[in-house]
Amino acid sequence: MMFRKYRCPACGLRTGVAIIYGMPGPELFTAAQAGDVVLGGCDAEFGAPERQCTACEHAWRIKRRNLVLPDWDGNEDLKWLRDGFDQPS
Ligand SMILES: [Zn+2]
Repeated sequence: MMFRKYRCPACGLRTGVAIIYGMPGPELFTAAQAGDVVLGGCDAEFGAPERQCTACEHAWRIKRRNLVLPDWDGNEDLKWLRDGFDQPS
């Protein structure tokens, strides 16, 4: 399993990792011990950070241009919304 590293907006190092919420499996426990992910606990509060820097411990949220829904790309009912808030005809 590969884990991405992200550039930390606070210290500029590429040492940011994903914060994983929910019950982790053994693979995630191993990854957390190796510093590849940070375990955020079972419940993600609204507005909880999604990345954490393993160097300076700064935590931040991902900036998104669009609202993300689970099956956003495949859902035709949401296409009008995805394409810019025009009501379907
Ligand atoms: Zn940092």
